[in-house]
Amino acid sequence: MNSSVPPLPTARGGVRRKTRHVSARDSSGNAPAAGAKDVIRPGAFPQTLPQNDAVCGIYVHVPFCDGKCPYCDFYSIRGSEERMEQYTERIVKEIKYEAEQSGRTADTLYFGGGTPSLLGAGRLIRIVEAARRGFGLEHAEITVEANPAEDLSDFFREIRAAGVNRLSLGLQSANEKELRLLGRRHTAQQAARCIGQAQNAGFDNLSLDLMLAVQGQTEESLRRSIAFCARAGARHVSAYLLQVEPGTAYFKQKETLDIPDEDEAAALYLLACGELERNGFHQYEISNFAQGGYEGRHNLKYWHDEEYLGFGPAAHSFLNGRRFSKKRSLKAFLQGEMPQEQGKGGDFEEFAMLALRLTEGLTDARCRERFGCPVPQKIKAAAKRYESAGLTVCTQDGFHFTPRGFLVSNQLTAEVLF
Ligand code: SF4
Repeated sequence: MNSSVPPLPTARGGVRRKTRHVSARDSSGNAPAAGAKDVIRPGAFPQTLPQNDAVCGIYVHVPFCDGKCPYCDFYSIRGSEERMEQYTERIVKEIKYEAEQSGRTADTLYFGGGTPSLLGAGRLIRIVEAARRGFGLEHAEITVEANPAEDLSDFFREIRAAGVNRLSLGLQSANEKELRLLGRRHTAQQAARCIGQAQNAGFDNLSLDLMLAVQGQTEESLRRSIAFCARAGARHVSAYLLQVEPGTAYFKQKETLDIPDEDEAAALYLLACGELERNGFHQYEISNFAQGGYEGRHNLKYWHDEEYLGFGPAAHSFLNGRRFSKKRSLKAFLQGEMPQEQGKGGDFEEFAMLALRLTEGLTDARCRERFGCPVPQKIKAAAKRYESAGLTVCTQDGFHFTPRGFLVSNQLTAEVLF
């Protein structure tokens, strides 16, 4: 580690896109600097104490979409009635089995995808009820992701009545041209109608997704998209920088794709952080902003390095200190293929890398709670070196990254921790 402050290089290398889960290989949701783990000496970090092993979160991956957005690398395929029915039956069965095996209760249930709303209210409710029978779900946050579509009034009413209490809508932009260039299949007007339908159905806890640094985006259009979210009554906004991922249609066109460069992307990210704050959404994670009390409880479990069970193809789990993942294949899922083990999770390095995604940062209080000791002095001293450059904020209790620090979080995390 050196004492010089790193330059502010790659915005897209630091702030990343939506986190569905945390894998052991990429436990921060960001890729740590190459070779970073190689320099860790045994005994350099606190030892893990047992977690609260009674309560976990549940993630259900619904792999159906009505088309493929050109930037998307999530596992999704076209759904048919037959496929969705087989999928639902299998999920219900696995939930029953895992609930009996694990003996856990759950206080969050998150339907991600894909487009969970495509499954329809009846099937989603069957899964919610299976999860309730198996895992209790007492006072649980139950989130369903949906894409704005023609008319979701009945869908929203039915799932709300079944106990779903949080919606996450894939708005991405309130600008028609940006939506078209993103290959989205809705307009801003449809999104506004859809938000109204959700609110009429009784959804107060509403999150909207925005994408940053997309084709054609300007500071002004981003400001308008953020104002749209505030006006629409969103309680939470997730704002992710576009990543051009291998295997996507965008990746094939990447030489000709006219998206903002790294400096422009960094400027848009910082603008989003400021504008969201100004509109009443405080930043609590690299890409997540909420009104007070509306932070996403399920995703906070990932960043607090707590345990969760994932169901469905491509779903990841972290249970009893081990990480697992299911194949990205509906066929394998329906055939009951076992998840692949990805190794141990929950050690101090992983815990610290995840904590540094949060504006709460790495604190003595949480470290004590989990490891029985405060943040190691050496790590605090390393963080202090980046404070004058405006990348970290150090307090009595620990430290956290600033929005400028988040822009270089891969490099900064490696410099501070290792
Ligand atoms: S709707 Fe969402 S999950 Fe489906 S292809 Fe588009 S971005 Fe991916």
